[in-house]
Amino acid sequence: MSFSCRVLFKLLNQSVVASSKAVRPPNAAMLGQSSVRGYYSARRPRLPGPGGAAPVRVVDLRSDTVTKPGRSMRQAMAEAEVGDDVMGEDPTVNELQKIAADMFGMEAALFVPSGTMSNLIAVMVHCRERSDEIIVGDLSHLHIYEQGGSAQLAGVHSTTVTTLPDGTFDLQQLESKIRHDYPDPHYPRSRLICVENTHNIQGGRVLPLNFLQEVRALADKYGLSVHMDGARVMNAAVAQGVPPSTILQHTHTVSVCLSKGLGAPVGTMLAGPQEFITRAERCRKALGGGMRQAGILAAAGKISLLDMVGRLEEDHCNAKTFAQALLECHPPLFTVDMAAVETNILRFYLREPSLSPTEFCASLSQVCEGEEAALGQGIQVLMFPHFGNSVRAVWHFGISSEDTQLAIQKIQFVASQYLKNKL
Ligand SMILES: *Cc1c(COP(=O)(O)O)cnc(C)c1O
Repeated sequence: MSFSCRVLFKLLNQSVVASSKAVRPPNAAMLGQSSVRGYYSARRPRLPGPGGAAPVRVVDLRSDTVTKPGRSMRQAMAEAEVGDDVMGEDPTVNELQKIAADMFGMEAALFVPSGTMSNLIAVMVHCRERSDEIIVGDLSHLHIYEQGGSAQLAGVHSTTVTTLPDGTFDLQQLESKIRHDYPDPHYPRSRLICVENTHNIQGGRVLPLNFLQEVRALADKYGLSVHMDGARVMNAAVAQGVPPSTILQHTHTVSVCLSKGLGAPVGTMLAGPQEFITRAERCRKALGGGMRQAGILAAAGKISLLDMVGRLEEDHCNAKTFAQALLECHPPLFTVDMAAVETNILRFYLREPSLSPTEFCASLSQVCEGEEAALGQGIQVLMFPHFGNSVRAVWHFGISSEDTQLAIQKIQFVASQYLKNKL
């Protein structure tokens, strides 16, 4: 049996060693499918016995959504002034919305429960007439990971453009997707262009400002609107060294997640012109997203926007360090495009066809034979197999540079074991 098979076999047959951070280990089913995005077995980690098994460290690189609020965030949540936000009376929500609008250079902003709802509301508000159509990247979150909500719930048709490896579109192709036939009854009517920044599936790619400018020029030429799924637009702003408003001057509306790298437990900001936000608030209520004393959540969001942006640079730095270590790994098991590592998401490939991303992630996620002796402790590194036979790792609030080094040690150990077992 090959090394990777043995590892997988072990994973399937043996409960995973206890974790010092008490994270539930991923199960084999979760690791077995590349489209899987979560969420794990109910099996509890085994705690170290009385003899005291070696400590195990968990480095969770599955997603920047796994962050947990820290002490100051919890404190702010506990002390938040609240009111009924559906009546517009929650002072903390109102404050958060003002902060977001100012930061993004938009007239107004709305606190919504999730990025998915935020994008859906944007589609609903931009496309109000039956037969309206959006133009969206074929690898965008909006098109792939939101259950087709635009069609399912908003009754809006989508046409796709090819998402290029850097998250942009070919502008000629984009222009060719715009329909000019209205009111010919055969065709939908183009209304909205959606862009994603940073681009999730393409590995946290930052959209160049001149691309955004050109998309906007095209939209203006044909009377369309531009919505940015900016779940991680703050990462883009930090990577480009510009305020978010510099990016967002090219879009009519934006959706920004507070619950990714910015560390809030819940929430997304939808921002745009006042008239758009007024309509968005109605949609939010219809979708069941009107929350009452939401100031408890908005208090966390305020800390995300005011205090957490500065530290995103650390995530970008750790991602690059890790990517570089993959390149230098012996044996050379990995393919990484360093120029594509711009923010907190890393995509990489395995060079050995005999080692699949699923097997590789399985062996990283458990404590391997001989590992504690070699590394001084067990290290469980959690990552997901990802699009196009790649592996994805994401840095966030919970991952220090020390954690990153531990993950590198583990990768090197797995790679050397792989070599040993192959020989
Ligand atoms: C996470 C994410 C969303 C959706 O956010 P949820 O809060 O998980 O619904 C939308 N777009 C992108 C690019 C994302 O990464």
